[in-house]
Amino acid sequence: MRIGIGHDTHRLQPGGPLRLGGVDIPHDREMIGYSDADVLLHAITDALLGAVALGDIGQMFPESDPLNQGRDSAEMLRAALNDVLALGWRIANLDCIVFAQRPKLLTHRQTIRERLAAILDLEIERIGLQAKTGESIGIIGREEAISAQCVVLLQQKKEE
Ligand code: MG
Repeated sequence: MRIGIGHDTHRLQPGGPLRLGGVDIPHDREMIGYSDADVLLHAITDALLGAVALGDIGQMFPESDPLNQGRDSAEMLRAALNDVLALGWRIANLDCIVFAQRPKLLTHRQTIRERLAAILDLEIERIGLQAKTGESIGIIGREEAISAQCVVLLQQKKEE
């Protein structure tokens, strides 16, 4: 087995919608980034790459490459997953935390989990998603940024 951890933070600016976990959530703020700034997908991508010691998302998709500007983070996550699969691993489960003062993620949790299941071609029961506020303090609580963390467990694929 292998375990990987990923973390990411993106700043917020007025606008919307909020792209999170591959889902466009109606909101009055959006995240800033070189790609589509999907902080949750970036944390998952780094967790996968970390589990197989393949570096991180910035190394795989450098900001120096104009092709990565505005890039769909689901595409980057798929690329990382394909590398993991090619090395003979499969995802046992993943657990994620999103740190956001607003919006309330409870009503969007199922939609995001379904989207993650589709991107990762994985049963939804293997995808945990938790949401935390910033308790109205710090960069999260002041709604200056949203952060995400992910832990992923990989298992060796069985011989067929
Ligand atoms: Mg990022």
